[in-house]
Amino acid sequence: MIIDGKKEAEVIRGKIKKEILEIKLKTTKTPSLTVILIGDFTPSKIYVKNKEKSAQEVGINSKILKYPKNVSEKEILIKIDELNKDKNISGILVQLPLPDQISKEKIINAICPSKDVDGFNPVNVGNLSSGYKSIVPCTPMACLLLIKKVEKNLSGKHAVIIGRSNLNGKPMAQLLLKENCTVTIVHSKTKNLQNECLKADILVAAVGVPNLVKKDWVKDNAIVIDVGINKVGEKLVGDVSFDELKKKTKAITPVPGGVGPMTIACLLKNTLNCFKAHQL
Ligand code: NAP
Repeated sequence: MIIDGKKEAEVIRGKIKKEILEIKLKTTKTPSLTVILIGDFTPSKIYVKNKEKSAQEVGINSKILKYPKNVSEKEILIKIDELNKDKNISGILVQLPLPDQISKEKIINAICPSKDVDGFNPVNVGNLSSGYKSIVPCTPMACLLLIKKVEKNLSGKHAVIIGRSNLNGKPMAQLLLKENCTVTIVHSKTKNLQNECLKADILVAAVGVPNLVKKDWVKDNAIVIDVGINKVGEKLVGDVSFDELKKKTKAITPVPGGVGPMTIACLLKNTLNCFKAHQL
């Protein structure tokens, strides 16, 4: 089974659009998302544009605030403070990576946890790891929703996650633990990566190394979720050798068309939830 992330994302966007229409009929309020984009890194510009387009399509007011690469940290912190206090703003997102003069830690800490649609603020990270209600980072949420399209009950499954970033690997582990999986996280210092991966009923690859996961790294009937987005020549490929694995797995996500579109749908979901929690 090839998991169609585009189709699943369309379903989620449709539900969000419907809900926003109903809200607009009942109130005068509209969910809104402000994205801060610093510099002119091409992939960031593309991601931000896609996020804005998707937000507008479902009826979220979306605004991109663009700053030059040499903007000061202070100017961004002042803007975040202003957005935190603005009752008309539901969600704030600062597109990563940031230029060297700006501390990622300070920026993430500055965003009000209840408007932190990326789920990166330590309050949300702490709530997630404590098993409390929290805003969940979009990509791991997308992965979990795709896994659950294949298998509803994950209890007792062995999940292996390649990658331990704050963005992907760590929150993914928390979500799968909450589903009662036995979770292994592997990374660049792990000895015998292949052996660890072979134990996986569910394998999530969030690495950034093209085609790292080969056919003989995965047991038959595993569910394989490929988070990686790597440019090889003009082509986008994942961290998993898709063609080698597609017949062997129970289900697998393609790149593109897997986790990517679902991530944006989850961002819209988070924005709507932030709006409902504080502005309705
Ligand atoms: P990251 O911060 O660079 O983390 C990569 C992780 O992979 C690190 O934990 C690193 O280990 C580990 N790693 C690197 N090389 C390895 C190897 N050869 N063997 C085993 N582990 C290795 O990356 P990220 O932000 O999590 O992103 C990962 C990938 O997902 C990238 O391709 C990114 O573009 C993509 N991505 C996709 C989406 C989406 O919507 N689909 C969203 C976000 C990111 P160490 O910790 O030991 O260094």
